[in-house]
Amino acid sequence: MFNLVIFGAPGSGKGTQSGNITEKYGFIHLSTGDLLRAEKKSGTALGEQIKTLIDAGNLVPDEIIQEMVKNFVHNNKNAKGFIFDGFPRTSSQAVWLDQMLEEANTKISLMLLLDVSEEELKKRILLRGEQSSRADDANEKIIENRIKVYNKQTAPIMDYYKEQNKYYRVDGKGKLDKVFENICTILQAFV
Ligand code: AMP
Repeated sequence: MFNLVIFGAPGSGKGTQSGNITEKYGFIHLSTGDLLRAEKKSGTALGEQIKTLIDAGNLVPDEIIQEMVKNFVHNNKNAKGFIFDGFPRTSSQAVWLDQMLEEANTKISLMLLLDVSEEELKKRILLRGEQSSRADDANEKIIENRIKVYNKQTAPIMDYYKEQNKYYRVDGKGKLDKVFENICTILQAFV
């Protein structure tokens, strides 16, 4: 089984490239942002709690998102592989993910960073905000908070994967097709 952690700051193109990878290789795309936005819309008390956090650009507690990831993986037992997009986002989520996959007799194959400068990230997210209804994409202060949260809580996870020799990087700037081509060059060795 193949399991990819697609990694990068908000706006780095993880969702778009996950879609491309899924289409080409037939893996299952697990976007924790999408799972949370679906729960947010549901109007439950949990949905309300999630809304407050997402709309401010802060992270949802580990326990909440881990439960969702676990259910998603269990509900897709026959998958050829998973693309983890937006997860893990904290060191404890990274450790938890390894344990959860070990219990399922599988593991992370590689972590792939989509590297994009902060200036470019902000531009892209603001543009996305104009085209979608995501409150967290529309406000510059919230975008800055999301990037800050990424740098503080999420970026350090790269060291965790480096220690396991699972860290790979592609330049996330430039044309989508070219970025995807570079991604495929790396993935070829694993799939
Ligand atoms: P995304 O669509 O990946 O940019 O995620 C949107 C928002 O969902 C983030 O800004 C967080 O508030 C929340 N979120 C997504 N994934 C996680 C995660 N793994 N841990 C905590 N919060 C998350």
